[in-house]
Amino acid sequence: MNLASRTTRITPSPTLQLAAAVKALMAQGERIFDFSAGEPSLDSPDAAKQAAIDAIQAGFTKYTAVTGIDELKDAIIEKFQRDQGLTYSRSQIVVSCGAKHTLFNLAMALFEAGDEVIIPAPYWVSYPEQILVADATPVFLPTSEATNYAIDLSALKAMITERTKAIILNSPCNPTGSMYDRETLEGIAALAMQHNLLVISDEIYEKMVYDGRQHCSIATVHPEMVHHTVIVNGVSKTYSMTGWRIGYAAGPEPILKAIGNIQSQSTSNPTSIAQKAAVGALQGGASFIEHMVKELEVRRHAVVKGLNHISGIHCPMPAGAFYAFPNVSGLLGRRFDGKVLATPFDLANFFLNEAKVACVPGEPFGTASHLRFSYTGPLDVMEEGIQRLAQVVEKLES
Ligand SMILES: *Cc1c(COP(=O)(O)O)cnc(C)c1O
Repeated sequence: MNLASRTTRITPSPTLQLAAAVKALMAQGERIFDFSAGEPSLDSPDAAKQAAIDAIQAGFTKYTAVTGIDELKDAIIEKFQRDQGLTYSRSQIVVSCGAKHTLFNLAMALFEAGDEVIIPAPYWVSYPEQILVADATPVFLPTSEATNYAIDLSALKAMITERTKAIILNSPCNPTGSMYDRETLEGIAALAMQHNLLVISDEIYEKMVYDGRQHCSIATVHPEMVHHTVIVNGVSKTYSMTGWRIGYAAGPEPILKAIGNIQSQSTSNPTSIAQKAAVGALQGGASFIEHMVKELEVRRHAVVKGLNHISGIHCPMPAGAFYAFPNVSGLLGRRFDGKVLATPFDLANFFLNEAKVACVPGEPFGTASHLRFSYTGPLDVMEEGIQRLAQVVEKLES
């Protein structure tokens, strides 16, 4: 049996190997200091849980409209109006089984062989893989820690060809925590409008911004830009609802219609009771967000400060999301037990085995100099984990 060629284009993520190693150690009864999670540790808001319980008891357990129930679409429309000042109609919204599914639907609806899609690097691991599944070509726009991962507009411009179809933006960014300022977004928008490109704007960390920053959506920076943007968002991160699997897209009607058609022949509607839970979160979750962001703010400071105390590690303060993204090139090339730790992947394995600290190596995010630490865990556990890192780093030989 020959597998389809698309299966050979995508690579299984090395992060999964690490996750398997973490699970194996936990199964042996080891205490692991886990900085690898891509999700908040808080429980989902009561407003969401109660809405789901009510839905089950009311028998709201059958197929729904493929692209989502009107009640949820209306709550999403209200969110866009309130937070971004953007006006969408129900036919411009599709609800899917998580924002990852939303992005996959978009790749299926928009991209094919010969298309190029620009992704600023470092990037979220699934963007290039989904583009490859769609037979298209990811093109990476390198950004640098020295400029807070800002997009160099002239470099972006030089990368646009006749084949370029879209740019994927993620602000705040997983893994770097960086955000694009309005001026940069205006520059990207001007290029998108000039070259008739679509911007896929993944705004899943919209609410996790610190030090009084304001999130800005590229769809709002020019009156025409809403016609060139699909916004992707969801309840996973904002409301600590990763397991409920509700994500959504808003944008130009023909694109959303195509996504809906693809979804109608694959998953059909997202889970009925999860849709009700999402309505509960969107309508009653404002205080939950405030509480969560305050908590994350404290944890962000503790983890970044702790990492910066370790010699060989340099960690900028992230502007948003919930990841610290330290540069560890000062540790690469050092030895433990005679073996050279040459890559972030080697270093992450060393940290896991010797310190029982789990973090994610930078390679699948497109960097060979960084590790990703999510700071969503309990403060005391994270502080102990960082102390353990400092101790094992002392054992490295140059
Ligand atoms: C977590 C995440 C998503 C997807 O979340 P879902 O749980 O599928 O809604 C999308 N983009 C980024 C950058 C993420 O970190």
